[in-house]
Amino acid sequence: MSIDDVLHSAVPPQDRPVVLDEQGQREVRRAILAAIAVPGHQVPFGSREMPVARGWGSGGLQVTVAIGGSQDRIKVIDQGDDQGVNAVNLRRLIAGTLGAETTEDTRDCTITQSRHRIPEQAMTDEQVLVLQVPVSEPLRPVEKSIAACERMHAEADYSRIWVAMYEDLVTGGVVNASSGYPVLVNDRYLMAPSPIPRWDVPRLDQGDRLTILCHGRDKKVYAVPPHTSVRPITFDDVPFEVEYARDQRCIRCGSTDVYLVETREGTYLCSDVEWCARVRTGDVDVAEHERQIPRAYYPDPAKRVRGVGIRLQGRSALGHSEHTGRTAPGEEWALQVTDLVKVFPGRLGSSPVRAVTGVSFDVAPGEALGVIGESGSGKSTMMNCLIGNERATAGTVRLAAVDDGRTNVLDLDDAARRRLRLDVMSVVHQDPAAGLDLRISAGGNIADRLTAAGWRSFWDIRQRAAALLDRVEVPLHRMDDVVGQFSGGMRQRVQIARALATDPEVLLLDEPTTGLDASVAAGVLDLLRELIAEREIAVVVVSHDFQVIQALTDRALVMHRGAVIEQGLTDQLFADPHHAYTQRLVAAAHV
Ligand code: ADP
Ligand code: MG
Repeated sequence: MSIDDVLHSAVPPQDRPVVLDEQGQREVRRAILAAIAVPGHQVPFGSREMPVARGWGSGGLQVTVAIGGSQDRIKVIDQGDDQGVNAVNLRRLIAGTLGAETTEDTRDCTITQSRHRIPEQAMTDEQVLVLQVPVSEPLRPVEKSIAACERMHAEADYSRIWVAMYEDLVTGGVVNASSGYPVLVNDRYLMAPSPIPRWDVPRLDQGDRLTILCHGRDKKVYAVPPHTSVRPITFDDVPFEVEYARDQRCIRCGSTDVYLVETREGTYLCSDVEWCARVRTGDVDVAEHERQIPRAYYPDPAKRVRGVGIRLQGRSALGHSEHTGRTAPGEEWALQVTDLVKVFPGRLGSSPVRAVTGVSFDVAPGEALGVIGESGSGKSTMMNCLIGNERATAGTVRLAAVDDGRTNVLDLDDAARRRLRLDVMSVVHQDPAAGLDLRISAGGNIADRLTAAGWRSFWDIRQRAAALLDRVEVPLHRMDDVVGQFSGGMRQRVQIARALATDPEVLLLDEPTTGLDASVAAGVLDLLRELIAEREIAVVVVSHDFQVIQALTDRALVMHRGAVIEQGLTDQLFADPHHAYTQRLVAAAHV
């Protein structure tokens, strides 16, 4: 039996082919319920492949078939057109499968399945809009790893999207996303609303209808229930815009306040074919449609980002650290480490590596503590345990800024530790590539931290980034250049600016100048010394080089095989080292 037999349906329901079996329908319905319960959240489901080619709307088909029945009246449109090849075939397949009627009148349908448009006719709370989705993951353009995307959704960590937007504004003055503009549902989940034009995006917000979106191959469904907040992602001071061709009208019906598409001849037509036909016969509710028009988002060149030039009022533009150094009551430290231990399991039967064997120290606000030791002595491992890149085996790490120092931050989960890295504790790595995204601009790398910490004003971010870059002596005309084009010294300066962006209480420097030429390294050391002196920040500097420790710190620990073997004032350690190992390190610095 062919599809056509079904479609010209003299065929009784029991003899119709199964597009989606009972079990599959139940799966999809269950996922839809979960999707409605958590608006915008992508819910996976199990289902067999649909009997349609890729890109033909298999996601929409699964939803429509799963929720529909013979009592329904189905409308299917493709880019607003009921007569598109895709629309006609899907409509016949759905109608035949469900034994349902079809309609081209939005007012008359119970379900509209659509690709690339929301009908101009407002849908009611008795109707369902099903949108076919070609790309379900809104983070895909900025993150290829599925696991990383899932983590970002779980933590509502969408800073990468904000950075992409910042980069668009800096390079082109406008946000590039034209269709499928990223939105935030209920102020929680980032959603790709399928490639509907921006014109339709405001109409997702607080709509009367239930909207269900589905990606067939990914087997993901998500929903916008009636009266749900859907906001396009945009900076507070950069307005979201819909497409609107001023002075243009549909050459068929004369409409102006609808989504128009340009023809090859340069004229314009309503993209919603049903609407256009009804306007011509006078069969539209003009007042109702007026409420659907996204006039508030019509492009206004006066509000655009024009010229991203920055004027600084001298060095003072950066201001000084607003932090007063929140110390714990009765305590002096900003960071306190007690009996930190890290043991790596031995590989292939070899014995475990005891990389850190019980290190204790504290650092006060405004103080810089040095940690010196030869390569392999456990310095980086200790740093990685502090910052949370490694799980410590035992010990306590307290931050005065966290719960007044009462919490052992080693007990916090990964998400909480990542948040600490946003505003409480920063790290500057030896390798700039570990602390920067080399594919985005210097300003964008700083914007990344600021947006993650909640900054939402494009101009505030831009000013702050410029002030920081100026402070670390990166020329402002390079602010919008991709960091990958920078020299090693310049990259390290950008990394330092980024680490200081949110005024952290604690700054960790892991061999900050080791990869640099001597003269470049000297410049970066001078800069670090000034920055440490001018802020109330607790700094831990790790290096194998006594000159670096001497340049930056007052007090230092000597690490050997994971343990602290000597400590004291840096100058005294340097002038009068007791331990033979320390004497060797001092001798090396004199060479
Ligand atoms: P440093 O930074 O002082 O050069 P590291 O902290 O990098 O020292 O290394 C300390 C010790 O821990 C070394 O013996 C090193 O081989 C070992 N080590 C570091 N990372 C790992 C790991 N992921 N797995 C196993 N051993 C490691
Ligand atoms: Mg190291």
